[in-house]
Amino acid sequence: MRRSLALLLPMLLALSAQANDPPPSKPIKPASAKEEASSSASASASAKEERKSSSKESKENKESAKEAAIRAKEALAADELAARIAERLSVIRKDKEDAAARSAPRPVVRPSYAPPVRRPEVAKPKNDHGTNSAAAAGGLAVSHADIHWSYKGEGGPLNWGKLNVANAKCDIGERQSPIDIRDGIKVDLDPIVFDYKPSRFSVIDNGHTIQVNMGAGNYINVLGHNYELLQFHFHKPSEERVNGKSFEMVAHLVHKDADGKLAVVAVLIERGKSHSLVQHVWNNLPLEKNDPVQALTTMDITDILPVKRDYYTYMGSLTTPPCSEGVLWLVMKEPVEISPDQLAIFSRLYPMNARPIQKNSGRLIKESN
Ligand SMILES: [Zn+2]
Repeated sequence: MRRSLALLLPMLLALSAQANDPPPSKPIKPASAKEEASSSASASASAKEERKSSSKESKENKESAKEAAIRAKEALAADELAARIAERLSVIRKDKEDAAARSAPRPVVRPSYAPPVRRPEVAKPKNDHGTNSAAAAGGLAVSHADIHWSYKGEGGPLNWGKLNVANAKCDIGERQSPIDIRDGIKVDLDPIVFDYKPSRFSVIDNGHTIQVNMGAGNYINVLGHNYELLQFHFHKPSEERVNGKSFEMVAHLVHKDADGKLAVVAVLIERGKSHSLVQHVWNNLPLEKNDPVQALTTMDITDILPVKRDYYTYMGSLTTPPCSEGVLWLVMKEPVEISPDQLAIFSRLYPMNARPIQKNSGRLIKESN
């Protein structure tokens, strides 16, 4: 009886040790943790190996129950070690997952409703082209991925589409801006009706350009359609080209209609005489980025327009992320002048903030006769 117990005990102990095996870690581990995980698995495997051989030996050599118990304890200790390794790995994995979750771009919240049929895509104002709200300058800027968009390096125009899924149009859009304006169809274009008046304004350096946010009540009318002026801002050099020619700078006057569709009037700028409106803006330059300066005076945007109001027109996009399409472009043919000193002031802040030319993709360009 005692003898058979002595035989049974080590077997029972070995069995109970196996029953206490830590469950295999179920969640899939990230690639970086795989190596560590496999080493833990092999530790567990070798522990089992050890237990098997200990049970066999005890039978063959008729070792005392005490000795076998010690061996079983060792096996248990090995299992415990394996369990602790697995636990530690799961903590490391969780930390890594948390870190990845923190650095991952936020999911894009899309409206649940479908856009109206047969309408061009409504450009959602999200940047310096879109709106004059403080959110455009600061709040939404952080919704992009860790690398923020810019005009050179990793955040440069060739990577805009990859920085955020919301910027996909920057990569795959077929009606992008700016373009090299050429081969326009000369027709009797209806003049743009400018209904601007002296208005309060603030100036903001939003990290991409100097932007002037305008008070309400400034409109243009294009083919019977009203758009309200939100803001204007500058690029250096001009983003658009005309028959291959680039200009020193351009001012983009961004308007929005009641449906949220955008119309941008582009005023090309070349080197020449000093410009009083531009000086008025420079006089109110903010000292800090994203900290708007409310001017104490008013400004009449009519003053930035050239004397002749002939223009080119085509359908394009925002020239900054998210590169939304469905933007009506109205590019004034006659440039205005600013002085070399005025150019130099902008150049100190933004020596180059122009998106490269995009492909025309067979788009129709019309121009005033
Ligand atoms: Zn612009």
